[in-house]
Formats: sequence, C-alpha cells, structure tokens
Amino acid sequence: MTDTHGFTEPVEPSPSVVEANRGVINTVPPNAEDFEDAQRGLIALPDVAVIPTRDDKGVAWNFAGYDFLLDSDDQAPPSVNASLWRQGKLTAVAGLFQVTSSGNRTIYQVRGYDLSNMTIVTGDTGIVVIDPLASYETAQYALKLFRDHTGITTPISAVIYTHSHVDHFGGSRGLFHETGDVIPKDLPVYAPEGFLEHAISENVYAGPAMARRAEYMYAAKLDKGPHGQVGSGLGLTISTGEVTLVPPTHYVGGPLIQPATPGEWSPANVVPWRKGLYQHSVDGIPMVFQLTPGTECPAEMNFYFPELRTMCMAENSTHTLHNILSLRGAQVRDPHAWSTYLTEAIQTFGEYTDVEFASHHWPRWGRERIVEFLSNQRDMYAYLNDQTLRLIDEGFNGIEIAEKLRHLPPGLAEHWYNQGYYGSLSHNFKAVYQRYIGWFDGNPAHLWNLPPVQAGVHYVQAMGGPAEVVRIAREAYQAETPQYRWVVELLNHVIFASGDTADAFEVPADVLQEAKTLQAEAMTQLGYGAENGTWRNFYLTGAEELRTGPQKPTSHGASDLVRSMSLDQFFTAMAKSVDGPKAALEQRSPIVLRWVLTGTGQECTTTLRNGVLIYVEGQDKLAGKPQATISLTREALDQLALSGIHFKENFDEAVRNEQIQVDDQAAADTVFGYLTYPDPVFPLVTPRPAPSGQEPGPVTG
Ligand SMILES: [Zn+2]
Repeated sequence: MTDTHGFTEPVEPSPSVVEANRGVINTVPPNAEDFEDAQRGLIALPDVAVIPTRDDKGVAWNFAGYDFLLDSDDQAPPSVNASLWRQGKLTAVAGLFQVTSSGNRTIYQVRGYDLSNMTIVTGDTGIVVIDPLASYETAQYALKLFRDHTGITTPISAVIYTHSHVDHFGGSRGLFHETGDVIPKDLPVYAPEGFLEHAISENVYAGPAMARRAEYMYAAKLDKGPHGQVGSGLGLTISTGEVTLVPPTHYVGGPLIQPATPGEWSPANVVPWRKGLYQHSVDGIPMVFQLTPGTECPAEMNFYFPELRTMCMAENSTHTLHNILSLRGAQVRDPHAWSTYLTEAIQTFGEYTDVEFASHHWPRWGRERIVEFLSNQRDMYAYLNDQTLRLIDEGFNGIEIAEKLRHLPPGLAEHWYNQGYYGSLSHNFKAVYQRYIGWFDGNPAHLWNLPPVQAGVHYVQAMGGPAEVVRIAREAYQAETPQYRWVVELLNHVIFASGDTADAFEVPADVLQEAKTLQAEAMTQLGYGAENGTWRNFYLTGAEELRTGPQKPTSHGASDLVRSMSLDQFFTAMAKSVDGPKAALEQRSPIVLRWVLTGTGQECTTTLRNGVLIYVEGQDKLAGKPQATISLTREALDQLALSGIHFKENFDEAVRNEQIQVDDQAAADTVFGYLTYPDPVFPLVTPRPAPSGQEPGPVTG
C-alpha cells in the first residue's frame, strides 16, 4: 500500500465495505478452539525480528512486520474483512511447538517461519525433518530454534518431502547450514513418486510468469498492515530467500518402496492392511504411507505414525478451502481425486488417529474432531466437483456457476476451516469448469474475443470516449451501493485502450491518470472486502502497480532445480524459449545438433524445424546428418541452463575455455540466436509496451 511510499494517503474503506466487513464475522459461529490449537504445546517464540538473506542485503522473512496482527485485539479494522483478520491472527502465531509425544518419539513443529510448517520427529539415531520450508534461510533459522530450545543435538537422519511444491523443499539445504553445508552422503531423502518431474515442470516451464503472478498472490511488495497485506490465508506470505533442493533418494511408490502385501503387513502398523498402502521405517520410526497423486499437488502423500497414533495430512487438509487452481497460475487440480483420497485417508487412519497435523496451519487433537474435520473438508471438495458438473449439464458457464453458488451448504459453511482464505468458491468453481470443459462456454460470441487493447478501443469509442467512460465509472463508484466490479471492468477498457499499439486509442494523459487512480481505488475497496487472502493481495498489488508501475521481482532462481533436470527437461525448457515465428520464417531447412555429455556418455539430438526445437534421445537417424556436434560436461550444461540472457556469451566463453567442444559453431549459434528471454516484470494491470521493433528478445549471434 501507499502508507510509506508517500504517493498518497491510504485509501479508506467505503461505508458499504465497512458494513460488509463487520457483518461477515457473524456468519460463522464463534470458536476459540482454533486459537487454543494454534498455541498448544508452545515451547519457544521466535527470537529474532527478521531473518536476513544469506547475502545480508535483504530480508527473507519478517516476523516484526506482522506484530500488528498479534498485538491487536480481536476487533478487525474496518479495512480488513473480519474473517480474514481472524485467519491472519491465527497464521501469525509463530514459534516451536510440541505436537505429540510417546516414549522416545516426539513430534515438533516450527510454525510461522514461512508460508509452510517444518515438522521434526525424533528417530532412533537422529531427527527426521518433514518439509523444510521454502528458503535456505528460513529452514536454517527454524532448525536453530528447535536446537536451541530442545537441546537435541543428534544429526538429521532423514528428510521427507510431502509433495513437490517449493514451500516444502526449497529450504532443504538450509538444514545443513549447521554442518557447514555438508550433506551426509548416505542421507535418505523421501518423496512421493513423480516428485522431481513435477517440481521441475511446475517451477521451470512456466516459471517466470508464475513468479511474476506470485508477487501479486503473496503481495511481497506491499506494506504489511490494516491497509495492506494481512497474510495469504494459507500462511502469512512466502519467504524470499534462496530456493534449494536436496534431491530425493527414496520414492514412495518407486522401485525401493512398493505397496505392502497382506502377508508383509506388520501388526505394529496399528491400521489394518489396505490395498495400496506402503509400510516403511524412517530412522527406526514405523510409518504407513498413502500416495495421493493429483490432489493438492500432482505428487503428494499422507502418512501415519502408528506409535503416536498421529497422521500427517501433507497439504490435503488445511484450515481453509484450498485452491483447485492457484491464482499464480498452475495446472488445474482434480477435486474428485482430492475428495476420494480424503475418504481413503479417513477410512484408513481415522479410527486410529488421536493427532493430525499438516504442512500448513495448526494441528488438531481428538479422534472425533479430526474425523469431523477431514470429513467436512472432503465434502467441500466433492461439493465443488459435483455441483459444477451438475450446472455444466444445465448449460451454465463457469462465471455463472460461481455467481449461482456463492455459499457452501450450512453444514459446511459453519466451520471456519471451510472458509475461502486461500482458495475461494468463486475461482474454484470456474477452475472445475475449466478442468472438465475448457475455456470455451459453447457460445460462439465467446469463440473469437477481441484482445484487451482492441476491446478497450471499441468499447470506449462506443460509450462516448474515455472521459465519458471515466465519468460513468465514478458515478458507479460513488453510488450508495457502489458497483466496484463494474467500475474495474469499465476502467480496464479505458486503461487498455491506451495500449501503445497500432490499434490503440489516444486517451488524453489526464483522463488516463484519472482512470488509473479510480481503478486503484476500486481495486482497493475490493481488496478490503475480500475474505480471501490472495484476492486481497491481488487487488491491493494491482492498485499499487497502477500508482507506481510494475516492481522488480523478489524471488530467487533455483539452481538446484536446474541441476536436477533430465536432458529431456533441459531441452523442453529450451524449446519453449524459441521465437517460433521468426525461426520458422528464416530457417526453411532443419538445423540438427548432436549433443554428447562427456563423462556420462549420454547423447541426444535436437532439430530446429518449423519454429520448434525437437528433442530425440540418442541419435535421430531420420533427422539427417547433424550440422554440429556439441560435447560438454553436465556441469557445463547446467551453467548454460542458468545463464538466462547470457546464454550465448557463456556458450562462447565455455568454447574458448574448452569446456565445450563444437565442430561447427555457426550452426549452433544460429539455433541459439532464436532463444528469447522474458522480461520478469511484464505488466498485468496495464497494457504491454509497444513492439517498437527493438523488442527485448532474440539475441542474435
Ligand atoms: Zn504448501
């Protein structure tokens, strides 16, 4: 927000927003249990105000920034939806907690040190860490808090990743800060089958766009406070330190850990045998695993600790309605699979569980409370799935379904944990529609829509010009019952009509400025009224960028992910950077490159043809004779992958240093000349700058 940027005073909430924000708290019965659960087992509070980045130049995590949530009384400020305020106060509870204990086993959690939780279990020879947060720095400090306050000094004996989202593995190397970044050679690292493939495909292929949109989703650039960021619903925000990955060594569902047969099933598992369950001891701790692919994440697993009658629900059940489609952009999830795996978890573990925890939010204690919670979350995802399908068959489109079903049935809506703090009913219904039937609603009027700039130009002209549209928008903004959604739709046309392209409309500077200011105010009101943390973050970040322009990104590249890429993935990532139209026009005959990895003997062929880069493992006998053979080490390949815009110059330098051998560099240079490098701060709330003929992009060799 603008509190400290000095551009304007913060926008105050309108009377209608204030009234709506106050009213919302009365729609769900009061319940102090969440606050008791969030505090239960507290051992130590955070002992630092901020966690600095490794280079000491920035802040990876800011505890002090959220003190306003902890210090305030229960009454929400008028500029925050009261339900979201409650969730913000809960997610701001940070520290080291004991979750449960029996014999020589204890489960601890460090919460509020990142978007996610770190869980630590005492094993026979050391400690087992589950989900080491999102950044090296936060993991380092979370582990230090644990060490300082438990006095447990035994080494890390295993690491477990519940799923392939970055907030569950990004801090893995930070666990070994205490040993001078030395990772034991025989350290077992467990993950669900498919982990690495999905971690890479999700974070690398559409990585730049997701990172840009994540800036909106978690509002890293906003000030924290009643007029700004109050959390993200799932946690406060995501840390901005170094993303790392210690690659898994053991996959549940992989060759080493296969489903148990009835004959193999140990009575020590407590839960009865069921088809598809895995039994495996981790540092002497007996565990039962349930794979849940295609739920909250493509590769995810729940697991059970028989000795402790405790289940870990990964991210499949949290104290919010979760996302069917993350607003940062992702492949749409499957709410039917999600609810089905929750049923399986309830049926398998429910009767034998006294404690349940997840990798976000606080645990739950008590068998009945746990079964009720999991069952209601299950019902919620099933309801989303089934009701979308029912209304699709009645001919409704996604936008209509989202408006028609604005509330869950009372039995689900009456629980705080089913509120839409991270996912929302509105965007989830549209996501389920997209999953089953796609972007097109069958109405040919929506088959070939005008793009934003052209649509803006035509609407603004038809409505009497930009000044007139701004006047209508202001009237709707100031009405007794303000129409903020209509205001942002109208003004979006004015702002995009000004796009600097051949189609654009000349919007006078003062009118454009007025449109942006009013648009920012309307988005701010929508943000203040949002129960969903990520909606609030999107609206308020959009408003901020309308005032100040796009901001530099804060996220840091993940070199460990690049090093874990297969050759196929490396060239898939390269292929999506090719300027297809240009390459297709200029190169009418294929360019074949042979790649040889010295050391491993791996070999592959890439062919640039018709604007695409085709990858074939080994030799491609049908592609014709290679124009060039490139021999390089895996290390040199990783360096190239990390080069970004410096790809070409790094390649040339590696050739000069003889780290790379190439027999016909001109052919290789031609291919590399078509690689493009996206601007990491592309605009979202304003039109893109003009293609002036000097577009950032192809680096010609
Ligand atoms: Zn997560």
